[in-house]
Amino acid sequence: MPAVFFGHGSPMNALDRNRYTEAWSTFGRTIPRPRAILVISAHWYINASAVTAMERPRTIHDFYGFPPKLFAVDYPAPGAPDVASEIAVALSPVSIALDKDSWGLDHGTWSVLIHAFPQADIPVLQLSINALQPFEYHLDLGVRLAGLRERGILIAGSGNVVHNLGRMNRHQPDAAFEWNKRFDDAVKSAMTSAPAEVLRISTHQDFDLAVPTPEHFIPLLYIAGLASAAGRPAEVLVEGYAMGSLSMTAYTVDAQCHLI
Ligand code: ZN
Repeated sequence: MPAVFFGHGSPMNALDRNRYTEAWSTFGRTIPRPRAILVISAHWYINASAVTAMERPRTIHDFYGFPPKLFAVDYPAPGAPDVASEIAVALSPVSIALDKDSWGLDHGTWSVLIHAFPQADIPVLQLSINALQPFEYHLDLGVRLAGLRERGILIAGSGNVVHNLGRMNRHQPDAAFEWNKRFDDAVKSAMTSAPAEVLRISTHQDFDLAVPTPEHFIPLLYIAGLASAAGRPAEVLVEGYAMGSLSMTAYTVDAQCHLI
């Protein structure tokens, strides 16, 4: 089973159709049908390691200031408590709590899966990002998840390589500041040659502007860990920028749906 990192951007991408959503859709259509999907989303960033383990995860609308139609979106994919236990075992001895009732599917997950898997009939789980842990920990967890790919589980990160909401310029929807391009290019260079080297990006001159808070960047580390474990570099699925200070770049590992 391939692995993927989605640059999810604005929650409105759930309803829009653009070249990013088309790429996500193509990815979903061209890969083998997963048994389950495990998403590491920027929007479940807590002081603990947990996996959703409920039968029916709720659709969480974790944003504000968007149109009512976005709050009406439902992504009714089932959960899979048995798969949650498999994931906890795979990550052992790291202790993973089984979340039966607190989280669900946040918009980092459903805004992309609504395009990639519009039927919402494949079980979806989320793995929290433990905010207390350093980058190395998250890359290592990605490595530990590698065996699940052979058991039909699609592992997806959802964040943005560059994500600085304070610097957004809404008048330039597809543009990028120079520091955004430099940082995105440096990450691309690591991901497409030696993915584990992406850990060194924290010393990049533009790191503080590109990653003012870590939660949107960390999901990429899981996919870097999976690529590293596979011994193959990641490939770019689609790339571009939004509003100056976001990167929309998406990466795949072992997928055959390259659009560029
Ligand atoms: Zn986000």
